[in-house]
Amino acid sequence: MHINDAVFLEDLCPKFRFRQWRKSIHRFTGKSCIYCGKPSESIDHVLPRSQGGLSTTENCVPACLSCNGDKSDENALYWYRRQKFYDPRRAMAIRAWLEGDLRLAIRLLQWANPNFKVNNKNYQKNETEYNAA
Ligand SMILES: [Zn+2]
Repeated sequence: MHINDAVFLEDLCPKFRFRQWRKSIHRFTGKSCIYCGKPSESIDHVLPRSQGGLSTTENCVPACLSCNGDKSDENALYWYRRQKFYDPRRAMAIRAWLEGDLRLAIRLLQWANPNFKVNNKNYQKNETEYNAA
């Protein structure tokens, strides 16, 4: 059978793929909000969809409902700078994430949050899954 003939469950069911994708986004930060570190309950578009932001991994970060709602349609980096919980390491992490450098983003988040270690294990596991594929 030619590889192009293969039918993947994900192609048959876009909803399934979307759910997997959302899950993987949350897994990168160990289910914590990229802005404040609280549990991430939603996916935030860094560049809002209303401003042409795409639903790609680079533009979508895990966020808690409070940050996501408060930020609304603002540019994430401008909004973040005004927050009480602003942390330059997290700001750098967001920037790295936007550039598609998730590895650097996660390292910066770890630096900002020493409790991140446990979560990092998830990321490592995730990465080996990718390597194996
Ligand atoms: Zn938050």
